Amino acid sequence: MSLDSRAVIVWEPGAALRPEPIQVDDPGPGEVLVRILASGVCHTDLHVRDGKIGTPPILLGHEGAAIVEAVGDGVEQPRVGDYVILAWRAPCGNCRFCRRGLLHLCAASLNARPRQHTPSGEFPPPILGIGTFASHTVVAAGQAIPVSKDIGPAEACLIGCGVMTGVGAAWYTAGVRAGNSVAVFGCGTVGTSVIQGARLARATRIIAVDIEPRKLEWARQFGATDTIDSSQVDAVEQIKALTGGFGVEYAFECVGSAQVLQQVLACRDLAGIATLIGVPARDSSITLDLPRYFDLGGSLRVSWYGDCLPSRDFPLLVDLYRGGDLRLSELITQRVSLDDVDAAFESMQRGETLKSIIMFE
Ligand SMILES: [Zn+2]
Ligand SMILES: [Zn+2]
Repeated sequence: MSLDSRAVIVWEPGAALRPEPIQVDDPGPGEVLVRILASGVCHTDLHVRDGKIGTPPILLGHEGAAIVEAVGDGVEQPRVGDYVILAWRAPCGNCRFCRRGLLHLCAASLNARPRQHTPSGEFPPPILGIGTFASHTVVAAGQAIPVSKDIGPAEACLIGCGVMTGVGAAWYTAGVRAGNSVAVFGCGTVGTSVIQGARLARATRIIAVDIEPRKLEWARQFGATDTIDSSQVDAVEQIKALTGGFGVEYAFECVGSAQVLQQVLACRDLAGIATLIGVPARDSSITLDLPRYFDLGGSLRVSWYGDCLPSRDFPLLVDLYRGGDLRLSELITQRVSLDDVDAAFESMQRGETLKSIIMFE
């Protein structure tokens, strides 16, 4: 049996998006069918629409909070009726990384077979194996992480991608600790979540850098102790001035720009850790002044999904939200419907929104 749904699909880069009818098939073995309650609108979806990532057709949406409506053969968890946050990492338990206990590096993360199809029988693959710009989707059981119902779906869905990526980059990829100094370049959802992760780890100096004054104001709400408008001043010089001339112990690139990455590398203290989180444009590259890079020591790391383990970290972030430590409601600029995806992309591009949330009820 298949059920009727509506979904937003990119058929060709740059074309206007509107929901269209699709059908969703039953879950297969090891898969679950979920009803989406809320889905965040992420930059990755925008990049797919614009042809910068992936090859269409692609069904959009990968930040979802949902209810499990049916489970396939062999699924013990989650159960029908569970409230879940969808994850794009579900460790297989069997690849060369999982066998060494490095589940966050799983090279064969589990996905369901595409089950969302058009009336004419085309199966546009869902982005990151999720596909939440639709009322229903089917994912691997391990991608649906049960959480407490004490968090609303608009807040919960944020944990599924942007917030987890930022908090995890601070905690796991970089390893920020109490008393550290941190600089964060780019203060959208991911950047402000790096700031929150650093605040939760008790970093004492958290410097936010952006070219939009509005985003710097937001950054303060999430825990930035200092802000720098890099459209007006030299960010590297300012960071050094704020840190006794030395630079920061941890610096984060949340834009995906080669030019910003150079600043991130340059603003570090001796042995400082730089972390690249922003997805770089396809043909971008940097030139390294190698003697200078060598003399400074430290390292450059790359963070995918904050090196998180969703089954461990999603419930933890929900607990931190419930205790008032993790701020999620403050990220939500507007709630919209599935018909408003393009408008939500436009306001994100204009820097007017931190997050738009598509609500399904
Ligand atoms: Zn694996
Ligand atoms: Zn995302």
